[in-house]
Amino acid sequence: MSTYKVHIINTGKVRIEPELAFGGDHCSTAKASGFSLNNSPKIWLPVNVYLVETPQGLALLDTGWDRSMSPQGVFDKQAQIDSLGSAMLYHVNQGVVPLGQTASEQLAEMGIKTSDIDYVIISHLDCDHANGLKQFKDAKHVLVARTEYEYAKKHHWVRFKKKWWDGMDLDLYDWNDNQGPFQRSYDLFGDQSVELINIPGHTDGLVATKITNADGKFFLYFADGGYGDESWQQMITSGISTDKAAQKKSLAWIREQSLQPNCVKSLSCHGKNIKPGTFEF
Ligand SMILES: [Zn+2]
Repeated sequence: MSTYKVHIINTGKVRIEPELAFGGDHCSTAKASGFSLNNSPKIWLPVNVYLVETPQGLALLDTGWDRSMSPQGVFDKQAQIDSLGSAMLYHVNQGVVPLGQTASEQLAEMGIKTSDIDYVIISHLDCDHANGLKQFKDAKHVLVARTEYEYAKKHHWVRFKKKWWDGMDLDLYDWNDNQGPFQRSYDLFGDQSVELINIPGHTDGLVATKITNADGKFFLYFADGGYGDESWQQMITSGISTDKAAQKKSLAWIREQSLQPNCVKSLSCHGKNIKPGTFEF
């Protein structure tokens, strides 16, 4: 009998420089952000979130875009600048979320209210993961690593905007276990079934979520630790990095985990081949 059921939910798309996703080890921040003179054409990638049915309740991994990014369900430049709170962030990443496709809208379609969500687990606070946070202000717990929160506070004037989570009751957690590439993780239930594992590099407090059943089989959500399977298969780091050496070490760990025979699925947020659906383990 399976213990966990995972719903793969696509919540629209993000448009970025290809170098932001796949810039590799020598990419400049200017190039990854679209501020270089010889930038490539931008690419669209999906924004996925994952709803996990666990014996301890419902967990939602990331929240995707807010409806305010696309009030009419179509690309809307001014709405995005207002929603993101920054013309510069709009330049770096644009988004669109068709009507009915935000995380909360799709959960409602499944008969799930946002207040039914026991744990919202935020991988990191970049806009395509945290802009939709307020949809879940009445979820029972909204978990953010204290390291990530502090990092975002320090950089709130460029990369992050406090308004995405202002007024929310965030559960900031400190590392209480030692899994992962830097031996920093948070064991949610105290039995290592759900571990939020620090994989720094893209941001300081980025976490992967590893969910392990009683047979030792696990699902790994590595968020933006890589922008798809090709990232860990070919060891291509993203172009946005706060610490390149840490980012490479985190990616090597994602690769090692993804290749383990007990890994039932290893998924990023933005992998271009990820299709909506469900799986159990
Ligand atoms: Zn992202």
